Amino acid sequence: MTEETLSGQTGRCMCGAVGFTADEVPVKFGVCHCEMCRRWTGSALLGVTIPEGKIVWTGEENIARLQSSAWAERAWCSKCGTGLYFRVTMESAYSGSFELPIGLFDNADGFEMTHEIFIDQKPHSFAYAGTGRKLMTRQDCVEKFGLLDEK
Ligand SMILES: [Zn+2]
Ligand SMILES: [Zn+2]
Repeated sequence: MTEETLSGQTGRCMCGAVGFTADEVPVKFGVCHCEMCRRWTGSALLGVTIPEGKIVWTGEENIARLQSSAWAERAWCSKCGTGLYFRVTMESAYSGSFELPIGLFDNADGFEMTHEIFIDQKPHSFAYAGTGRKLMTRQDCVEKFGLLDEK
């Protein structure tokens, strides 16, 4: 079964110093409520996973990066601070791909929220509408991804 994807999707940071065109963008995306994503975004990371090599950046010199944990980095626009991506850097089945906030896309419609992870770390004050999504707790994620021995 091949997943539905979008091609030629463009997007940018708030100030426009960093832009991108992405192919093989999955329609399905997930939400991460982990403590780091919560602090990084101020709420939750609504991220779509784009395979390595399927994204072309403009203004790449304006991308600032931080190794935010032993296994992943986060990047943002050094001019305006917009969060650009989360990426697993540690050697694993998940390394290389970019987790891009869907809010960066020029057309952020057409996506479907299919899963929420670290659901047990979501603040009680809000919840996304709708049902039928796959929900995973922190413990589920530790077992599935096997990456997160800290936090
Ligand atoms: Zn910017
Ligand atoms: Zn997270």
